Amino acid sequence: MEIIETVEQMHNESETLRRSGHTISLVPTMGFLHEGHLELMRVAKEHSDKLIMSLFVNPMQFGPNEDFETYPRDTEGDLEKARGVGVDIVFMPSLEEMYPEGCQTTVKVEKVTQRLCGFSRPGHFDGVTTVVAKLFNSTKPHLAVFGQKDYQQLAVISRMVMDLDMDIRIIGVPTVREADGIAMSSRNNYLNPEERESARCLKKSLDLADKLLQDGTTDASVITGAVESLIRNHAFTDIDYISLCDPLTLEALETLGEENLLALAVRVGKTRLIDNCLIRKR
Ligand code: AMP
Repeated sequence: MEIIETVEQMHNESETLRRSGHTISLVPTMGFLHEGHLELMRVAKEHSDKLIMSLFVNPMQFGPNEDFETYPRDTEGDLEKARGVGVDIVFMPSLEEMYPEGCQTTVKVEKVTQRLCGFSRPGHFDGVTTVVAKLFNSTKPHLAVFGQKDYQQLAVISRMVMDLDMDIRIIGVPTVREADGIAMSSRNNYLNPEERESARCLKKSLDLADKLLQDGTTDASVITGAVESLIRNHAFTDIDYISLCDPLTLEALETLGEENLLALAVRVGKTRLIDNCLIRKR
C-alpha cells in the first residue's frame, strides 16, 4: 500500500494509473475507520482495480463551535485497516497541502444544502463540496463511494457532480450498523454507556416511522410527532431536526408519497448524531 502526502505526487500517480488503463475508485474519509468505512472500500473494490482512500480531517466543514480539534484520530490504526481491506493508495495530505496560503475558491451547491444539516451547520456543505472537488481533482477517480448514513452529503455531492459535468460515477452504500442498531460513526466514540443506550432512539425512530406508514399513516406531521415523543422519552436527548422529505430534493413533505426520506439529527449529551432511512409502503 502506497502512502501519498502531496497533491503533485497524487496527480502524477493517478495520471500514470489512468494511462495504464486502470479503473480508479476513491473513498474519501476523515479517518478513525470503522466497519462502515470498510464496507465502502469493499464496494469500491468491486467496481475498480485501483482503490484510493483519502484520509483528511477537513477543517472547512466544521463550524467554529464544532469538534474539529477533538475529532478522533488514529492514523496508525487507520493505515492498518486500510491495508487489511486492500486499499492500494492512501492519500493523506497535510492541512497546508490542501489549503495553502492564498486559496480562495469554494464550491457551493445551492438548494439541496439549505435544509436539514445545512440549516443547523451553516457552511458545512460548502466545506464538504470544496474538499471533495479538490480530492476528485487530485485523485482523478472514475468512481467515488459514499455512505447513505450521510444522506444529504451524498445528495449534495451527486448534485455537484451533475452540475459541474464531472465524469465520475457516484455510488451510495447502505448504512452499516452496530448490533444494537446504532449507525456506525466515528463520533459514537464520544458517547458514555448511558448516552449510548439513549442513542438507540434514532434507529428506533426509523423503525417506528416505517411501522406507522405500513399501518396506513401518511400524514407527515403525525409520524414526526410520534418520533418526537419517542426521542423525548430517552434521556440526554435534544432534537435538532426530524424531517420527512423528498429523497431527491430534500424538500419537506406534508403527505408521504411513493418513496420518502426520514432524516434525524439528535444531540445525545454533547454528541450530535444523524441517521436516516428511506421508507415506502410495501
Ligand atoms: P467520515 O469519515 O465520517 O467523513 O465518513 C467517510 C465516509 O464513510 C462517508 O461517505 C460516510 O457517509 C461513510 N460512512 C460513515 N459511517 C457510515 C456507516 N455507518 N455506514 C456506511 N457508510 C458510512
